[in-house]
Amino acid sequence: MVELSSIKELRSIVGEENAVEDPQLLESSAIDGVKPGIVLFPENIEQISEIMKTASRVSASVIPMGSGTKRGIGNKPLGADIVLSTKKLDRVKEHESADLVATAECGITLSALNSRLGARNQFLPVDPPHVNDGATVGGVIASNDSGPMRLRYGTARELLIGMKVVRADGSVFKGGSKVVKNVAGYDMPKLFVGSLGTLGIIAEATFRLYPVPESSKTYVAGFKSLDEAHGAVRSLINSNLVINALEQMDPGLSGSIEERLGMGLGRNIYALAVRIMNVTQAVEDQIKTVMEVSRRNGGEGVVIEGGDEEAFWNEVREFPWRSLDGASAVLKAGVLISDVTRMFLMLEELSDKYGVRAHASARAANGVVIVSVKGDSEPVLSSVKELREFSESAGGSLVVREASPEIKAAVSVWGDIGSPLGLMKRIKSGFDPGNILNPGRLF
Ligand SMILES: Cc1cc2nc3c(=O)[nH]c(=O)nc-3n(C[C@H](O)[C@H](O)[C@H](O)COP(=O)(O)OP(=O)(O)OC[C@H]3O[C@@H](n4cnc5c(N)ncnc54)[C@H](O)[C@@H]3O)c2cc1C
Repeated sequence: MVELSSIKELRSIVGEENAVEDPQLLESSAIDGVKPGIVLFPENIEQISEIMKTASRVSASVIPMGSGTKRGIGNKPLGADIVLSTKKLDRVKEHESADLVATAECGITLSALNSRLGARNQFLPVDPPHVNDGATVGGVIASNDSGPMRLRYGTARELLIGMKVVRADGSVFKGGSKVVKNVAGYDMPKLFVGSLGTLGIIAEATFRLYPVPESSKTYVAGFKSLDEAHGAVRSLINSNLVINALEQMDPGLSGSIEERLGMGLGRNIYALAVRIMNVTQAVEDQIKTVMEVSRRNGGEGVVIEGGDEEAFWNEVREFPWRSLDGASAVLKAGVLISDVTRMFLMLEELSDKYGVRAHASARAANGVVIVSVKGDSEPVLSSVKELREFSESAGGSLVVREASPEIKAAVSVWGDIGSPLGLMKRIKSGFDPGNILNPGRLF
């Protein structure tokens, strides 16, 4: 617990109105049941620096938080004296549209940033879940969260070129630059991607941007068998098409999306959605090829565009948080592209074996599979263990993204980190020797 005198000090740094101890806010800011002592809303990087100086002097634990949409990721924290909210750091500092580069404060939501950039027909092409719930730029970087468009543009890791971070001791670190071709020395900003707030408070980020494509269309095809769907995936990957997103869904998930959107797809099919974003003529030509490839592999489907297309990708991006009425565990596996089919088969077997309801959406050309498992604790736990065993034995990984504290306690959320763990621990103690930033969340 932070002492009263330190609380006073923290209040004076951010001002009374930006230091909140209201029980309701503390309750709603809890992580895995660990309630903070105070929530601070700094308004600039200098205030973050002063907060961190005080916190490190009195060894207070600090949990950085944007909109709190990814609170389920990681282990239960060991402490939460201070929640440091980035809500008031929401400005776009610079947008050099001629250079396709922008710098923003990290509490800005991805949707607010993209609507600002959209005024000059540019965007930051990351499409992780929780965008509609206010996912912030800082949270997306800290979790390296991504969505279907990672196929064409990569994740935040590939788009980030510079960063300002406040370290645990309050010192400000500036890495990278506004120049895309800046490659001298270690690429330090990348270290903070996926660091889950354990290495520093990300305050500002500079990204390379892309022009908003002139046109966009999606072909959603239904296949009767997994083999047919995989045949189409293989042909599409080996073609010279420039595909923005290639998503494969199990029959339960595609049926649930169909129920809500009524696209005219059949039931009990494995859906494959192919999105092409480009100049209008290229989109027309490439969608035709996609339809031919699908047909050759036994797929029939529909072309969607405009609002229907946006609604469809919103469903995919937000799975399983929006579809299928919640989940007992949300998993993210990284496997070989050729193992995606085996993973889908395994989910069907697990549903039969344990009576769970398991569904999946796969970034089919990346080997990233988002899985939702619903059921009682024991069967869900057994399913998670089997899926982890399969992913790791196939040379991949499986992270438990969200689950009840009991399931998290029974299975390591990260899986086998292997020999890099020692190095990761040394990096953590170099940046945060007092272990005050998100203690315990990673390891
Ligand atoms: C052989 C093979 C080839 C692949 N090829 C591709 C490819 O070409 N393109 C592609 O996009 N994907 C590919 N993948 C999938 C790749 O492994 C994914 O990157 C993986 O699923 C993790 O997803 P991510 O990068 O989005 O998550 P990450 O950003 O790596 O992780 C998400 C979050 O979890 C944390 N985290 C993840 N793992 C651990 C861990 N073990 N310990 C502690 N924290 C952790 C991170 O810090 C972060 O906060 C491939 C996988 C395999 C097995």
